[in-house]
Amino acid sequence: MEEFEASVSFTETDDSRMVDGGRNNRWHHLEEYEQEMILREADIIGIPVYDNPDLVVFNSHASTAYHDDPDIISVAGDIYPDLSSTHPTDRLTIRAVLAHEWYGHRACRGTLLPKGHPLDEARASYLAATTCPNLTNEEKQQLVEDAKERLNRVEMYRNICLEDILELCKKEESDYE
Ligand SMILES: [Zn+2]
Repeated sequence: MEEFEASVSFTETDDSRMVDGGRNNRWHHLEEYEQEMILREADIIGIPVYDNPDLVVFNSHASTAYHDDPDIISVAGDIYPDLSSTHPTDRLTIRAVLAHEWYGHRACRGTLLPKGHPLDEARASYLAATTCPNLTNEEKQQLVEDAKERLNRVEMYRNICLEDILELCKKEESDYE
């Protein structure tokens, strides 16, 4: 999963924007009934998976992630939460993970921020929490906690107010132009 190493490099070998945290079941092969259940979850929150059957790709990548090009969400076994963990990313529900990928990363498709950048990850969870329909309050709270945790990992981002994240990302992006 995408780990941020303080100002060394944001580059991952895989050009994806993953959900992060250890999360379980990474190598679990998703069977057809599981895939159908996941598509239903995506549909409930307004991801057009039935209009666009190529949008979600199962078992093709090592982790669940949004990919800018081609425009797809890869879904792996790590879509399942790891409820034995106290890490907010691990505890995200399937719906919350899908919201992070679609209402977070997809909404910022083409961002200049490098993959795994903590601001990009925090923005994705913040946008998911604030714009995705049909999430429970608990799921929204999970996503907010996830966003905060992404920022807390990096000392210079620790005091950032989540409400300022969109503006901060814009500013940071201008450094990569
Ligand atoms: Zn992400």
